Amino acid sequence: VGEGGEVFELVERDGLARIGRFETPHGVVETPILLPVVHADPDHQGISPSEMREKWGVEAIITSSYILHENAELKDKARHEGLHRLLDFHGTIMTDSGAFQQHVYGDVAVTPEEIILYQNEIGTDIATVLDRFIEPGASRQDAEQGVEETLLRAMEARDKRGQRLLAVPIQGGLYKELRERSALGSSALGDVLCVGGIVPLFETYRFADITRVMTNLRPSLPPEKPVHLFGMGHPMVFALGALLGGDIFDTSSYHKFAKRGALLFPEGSVDLESVREDVCGCKLCAQTPLTKVKELPRGERELHLARHNLNQCLLEMKRVRQAIRDGELWELAERRSTSHPALLAALREATASPDAFLPYEPPSRKSFLILSELSQHRPAVVRFQRNLAKYVSGRGPGIPVAGQRLTSRQLSRAPPEIRQDPADPTLWMTTTPLGPVPLELTEVYPLGCLVGPDEFAAFNTEMPQVPEAEEDEEDSPDEDKEEESTSTQAKSSSDAPDSQTAERWATRHALGIVEWCWGRAARTALSGKQFNLRHSRASGRLREIILDGAVLFVIGNDGLPMPTFLGAKFLHGILPFPSMRVIANEDAAPFVSSGRSLFSRHVISADKAVGPGQHVLVVDINDGLLGVGRTLMAAQEMGRFTRGMAVRVTAHRPGD
Ligand SMILES: [Zn+2]
Repeated sequence: VGEGGEVFELVERDGLARIGRFETPHGVVETPILLPVVHADPDHQGISPSEMREKWGVEAIITSSYILHENAELKDKARHEGLHRLLDFHGTIMTDSGAFQQHVYGDVAVTPEEIILYQNEIGTDIATVLDRFIEPGASRQDAEQGVEETLLRAMEARDKRGQRLLAVPIQGGLYKELRERSALGSSALGDVLCVGGIVPLFETYRFADITRVMTNLRPSLPPEKPVHLFGMGHPMVFALGALLGGDIFDTSSYHKFAKRGALLFPEGSVDLESVREDVCGCKLCAQTPLTKVKELPRGERELHLARHNLNQCLLEMKRVRQAIRDGELWELAERRSTSHPALLAALREATASPDAFLPYEPPSRKSFLILSELSQHRPAVVRFQRNLAKYVSGRGPGIPVAGQRLTSRQLSRAPPEIRQDPADPTLWMTTTPLGPVPLELTEVYPLGCLVGPDEFAAFNTEMPQVPEAEEDEEDSPDEDKEEESTSTQAKSSSDAPDSQTAERWATRHALGIVEWCWGRAARTALSGKQFNLRHSRASGRLREIILDGAVLFVIGNDGLPMPTFLGAKFLHGILPFPSMRVIANEDAAPFVSSGRSLFSRHVISADKAVGPGQHVLVVDINDGLLGVGRTLMAAQEMGRFTRGMAVRVTAHRPGD
């Protein structure tokens, strides 16, 4: 295990949430990961760590080095046997260092140096710096002292951690600037960054404050390091936590709630006492139904609940990972937010800070379901609206049309005088769930794949507000010199528009989506060329933009154009450096131009506007075009991750 960011690799992502490979001395684990909190004393464990590993495939746990250190017998046993043997767990073990005891008792009987050395001695995988715990109500002065003190301790710990990874807590209470300072200071010191001081917020359902802490903090966190959200151990908050960029979670709740007779579910907690129906069908509760569990002796009952609870926690973390892979984490977080008003408040708080999410927001996802009032405030919609404002600015007056999609039926309703000139009237589709949108953009993400209640209810047919709508029909003669020789193969049905209108509309559609992605200069350049279009015979959807018999852009299911190498060349000639560029170093250039992907460590720099999931031009240091591809990272992440792919190259310079 090396220095800095070499232990964490980004594999997949959905906004701030990420699937990562985290390498620890006892193996690679996949994040977001849940670490069950295990009591350091085997007599107090309930579920043993080996059972967790065998039955549920738990790869990593967390335990308290402080408890071991304060237990005369275990202290030396752990030294001699090592932590992994003591706990009979041979996966990844993280240790904390008494911060929790500090929170509960106000003080601990160990120095920061003693406890870091001890963690090294017992062979933990991830040692945690003993931080100064800052309560949410702390004064600014106290919080500031805590931040300084914790940073000082982290600096000292850096040299004393031995072969261990170092987790550095980020403090600062609810003070944005202090959190930022703490994050920046910790960045160079920790292998894992722990957002500390949020347990009291979690325990009192102040989830909105947790959101605020995270949206304030995220821009200051180094992207190449895993982030641990300390103590957010209830399955109802995992989706929210991952959405905010949490990579590592821990849970003691599975055990604590069992002790007080409560069942954990992603929808909330249930008191066993109140259970009259066998409301859980998990493997354990199928074996021993909950109504029978109530009658078990105390010890057995607690163990059943602890197992059920841990199982629910692990299962929810799997759902979170699946949702990230599917690009559906916002949907999952919204579903969970209906379980408790505090979660709803937290998600509302997240939508109030779109700029924390937008740099990592993908250009599209497979689907977009409207699930609550918050859906229309997701970052994807905010960005769509911002792009829309840019797109329509300076365009001439518009004409409202009703309908839903850019279908041949819609085309047939298009007034015949409409052409592709930006000064021509914009046809505003007034009936979309995102408000009035120019007809040519209605297949673009998120609108194109959006499913909302409007589709199942009567349409609101309000007139668009921008720009002023006009109904007058100028019967200006067609200026044929401007006409593109486009050929479309619109589905021939009784609805089919006359072929000339269809052609004009197809042209406007193509130019519209090119402008949407790459601006007006790209549109102007393309409209000056004799391009052709190919539509899908089956669906009638635009599939390709073709120039001189070669495909420039392939239109995806997200309604957005993807450049081929020729398309990339076209854009390269139009967009000024460093627009849309990722610059590969000398070592990588020949590989990229032969179609290999570009790794983060080979990136010299990138256009700051580049986010994950975007099409980019991969160039050499002299702006020579090597290939085109789709990013996995945002510009500010490239080069910082020492592992992993920055751009998956989709097309490259043809070989000589
Ligand atoms: Zn169950």
